[in-house]
Amino acid sequence: MLARLIGFLKTFVLYDILSGLLITLRYFFKPKVTIHYPHEKGLVSPRMRGEHALRRYPHGEERCIACKLCEAVCPAQAITIDAEPRHDGSRRTYRYDIDMTKCIYCGLCQEACPVDAIVEGPNFEFATFSREELFYNKEKLLENGDQWEALLAENIKLDAPYR
Ligand code: SF4
Ligand code: SF4
Repeated sequence: MLARLIGFLKTFVLYDILSGLLITLRYFFKPKVTIHYPHEKGLVSPRMRGEHALRRYPHGEERCIACKLCEAVCPAQAITIDAEPRHDGSRRTYRYDIDMTKCIYCGLCQEACPVDAIVEGPNFEFATFSREELFYNKEKLLENGDQWEALLAENIKLDAPYR
């Protein structure tokens, strides 16, 4: 009987509607949690495992020493490397391919690399219209490295204390 009376009173004073409007009013004055993507970008963690890049040293030499650890550790077998010695005796890749359609973004290639050459950067906006565009070669990966180097270096520095 009492429950029915309370229910009737709630209906009579439009309790549910008023409490809903109150919640709306409360959130109306709070900072917005939504952003106008793609014009506004949200925060991206320094540990973001996005698009791959091959890095260079500041003097321009590629970091990769063709040890093939990344290729060996990749669980998706997405990396293909071919290498040969240079005239100065150093080993360098002449082919470094990543099939991004196979990649599962586990980050193991980055973890395995002894010289921080292959990294997964902060770029997550690399959707394409065709599969072929996701077969990355060395030129594309080095290009990514050159484009993102400042942020990549900063992110590696930020993450270093936790490694
Ligand atoms: S992120 Fe993982 S799956 Fe992708 S290339 Fe690196 S090791 Fe392979
Ligand atoms: S990217 Fe790193 S792990 Fe892979 S072959 Fe080059 S040096 Fe070795």
